[in-house]
Amino acid sequence: MRFFQRCTARIRRLRPVFDEHLDAVVTVALASSLAGLLAASLIASRDAVVLVIALSACGAVVYVGNRVRPKARLRRAARIGLRRGEFHVVYQPIVDMRTRHCVGVEALLRWGHPKFGAGGPGQFIGELEGTRLLGALTCFVLREANSALTQLPFAQHWHISVNICARHLMEDRFVEDICESAGPLLERLVLELTERSCVERTPRVVTALSHMKQRGVRLSLDDFGTGFSNLDLLADFRFDYVKVDRRFLAMRGEARIQFLKSVAALVHTLGAKVVVEGVERAAEHDVVKRSGIDLAQGYWHGKPMAVDQLRAFALATASISTLHDVTGTEHGA
Ligand code: C2E
Ligand code: MG
Ligand code: MG
Repeated sequence: MRFFQRCTARIRRLRPVFDEHLDAVVTVALASSLAGLLAASLIASRDAVVLVIALSACGAVVYVGNRVRPKARLRRAARIGLRRGEFHVVYQPIVDMRTRHCVGVEALLRWGHPKFGAGGPGQFIGELEGTRLLGALTCFVLREANSALTQLPFAQHWHISVNICARHLMEDRFVEDICESAGPLLERLVLELTERSCVERTPRVVTALSHMKQRGVRLSLDDFGTGFSNLDLLADFRFDYVKVDRRFLAMRGEARIQFLKSVAALVHTLGAKVVVEGVERAAEHDVVKRSGIDLAQGYWHGKPMAVDQLRAFALATASISTLHDVTGTEHGA
């Protein structure tokens, strides 16, 4: 009985993960024989995934587990959330290093969960990877960006970057999905493919990407330097942009500028432009500029913001070139 009490005390201390209360089940079964014990344990563990098992000398079996698989619950919640309008999109400026003018934005997904509040993609994208839902979310982002940005006259020359996932790219309906959802945005669209995704160079993928290119869509290799197959990917697909992951800005001294210069030289050889992500300080902006990098994206230039904030941003960049707001949370998000 004391063991049982210890278990329940532990369960009370469990903290909810994003949309994931550990739905704890405590079962105590008593059996007089080994067969009975086995039967009881099978019944008790029917739908438990995480199990703490204790067999006591008197033949009691205690199972503590979460009844529903967390991933499945998150996916179901996201599917429902998409239907209920819990998702929204924020936009982060991408600036030209020479002029400091905004030349594009990256559309980033946010989930405003009714119970757990705002959640960045770090809390759910990984879990949704490899599911059809991520394709549906890409279409949602495109539709939102289309209706929001085509109404902003000052943004007509901006390119719009949208993150795509490998699974969607490998599906039959990828091209149709993108074209339908992007509408008039298509010719300004940049599809960002993260280097960490396992994209295979299958005929379907090659055909899909060349279809996109024919329609004027540009390609960007995201998070460069964080995956395993960066040079493979660079050689296999004709990227228009390569985005260097922000972790490289954390490098110290001369190594940082030498690294950025080498990446710029390599990428320029391939006819693409380099974007550095995660510029948070003026000093980083200067290093990036001295490295011959074309474009930058980071809090120092502008945080991800709601579409109405973009107007103010565009006005501010027109007069003071950059918005130096590195404090607080995302603008309007
Ligand atoms: P990403 O595509 O590399 O997007 C850039 C991330 O860096 C964004 O995080 C942005 O808010 C963050 N960031 C930008 N500048 C700075 C900075 O100066 N400092 C710091 N600390 N962070 C900065 P976010 O929005 O949390 O997105 C994380 C990742 O989630 C994205 O990385 C992307 O891989 C994925 N993601 C976001 N939206 C979508 C989407 O609609 N579809 C898919 N498939 N993935 C998405
Ligand atoms: Mg991206
Ligand atoms: Mg990135």
